[in-house]
Amino acid sequence: MPELPEMEAWRRALDGPVSAFPIEKAGPAHIATLKTIDPPLTALEGRRLAGAERRAKRLLFPTEDGDLVLLVHLMTAGRLRYVPAGEKGPKTPAFRLRFQGGAELVLTEAGKKKRAGVWLLTPEQAEAELAHLGPEANELDAKELGEILACKSRRLHSLLRDQRVIAGIGRAWANEILHASRLSPYALSKELKPEEVERLSEAIHSELERGLELREQGADDKRTYRVHKKLGEPCHVCGTPIAQVDFEEHTIYYCPDCQTGGRVLKDRRLSRLLR
Ligand SMILES: [Zn+2]
Repeated sequence: MPELPEMEAWRRALDGPVSAFPIEKAGPAHIATLKTIDPPLTALEGRRLAGAERRAKRLLFPTEDGDLVLLVHLMTAGRLRYVPAGEKGPKTPAFRLRFQGGAELVLTEAGKKKRAGVWLLTPEQAEAELAHLGPEANELDAKELGEILACKSRRLHSLLRDQRVIAGIGRAWANEILHASRLSPYALSKELKPEEVERLSEAIHSELERGLELREQGADDKRTYRVHKKLGEPCHVCGTPIAQVDFEEHTIYYCPDCQTGGRVLKDRRLSRLLR
């Protein structure tokens, strides 16, 4: 799933193009993709978008007149593309906006399962839709992060991915951030020493910034990630092979030398815990 760096890179790339021309036609949209019916999509026609904004892993396209907000959540397999006038877009996208002059914004989704979503909302509805989200990960300072960590005892990997607590980080960047901060994915949030909180805060900022820079250059996953999905490859800091462990419903990647003092983490899959 695209996370904060990926979504922010897309937001920057789309900001200018989507506001260049008024919308000529909104839709069609796949029935599973469009999550709202009122206001109707046709309410967008003739209006111009003010640009692209981002909240956590979602993109928001407010209209210039301030009346409507188009919200897009790509989930795991959704992709949003700007197709310039004269270029051929996909035949049956999950959602399409056509601008005057012929350019298009299209949402496609690989696979049969339609999980990506498009919402057309009033600004008040949009605010309510986003109200559950925690602060943006890249805007937190060490003091605010420390307060969040001290609130409840949670394993770091799980806490970092909880969008209600900190918004924008998913499993890939949680792996990268914890490696950069030399902390165990299983470390308990309440037990971190002040210097460890400081290190985690620095790593959140530096890793998300590194990701954004790479994604803006068009880097793929292989080039962007240094730990995520790198099982058996040498750690870029110490050379130890990267290890993996199943935790809750997914896989964590970490360096046993940099992060866990040489210890191999135990499998904590939900299915195993329930056995
Ligand atoms: Zn290492």
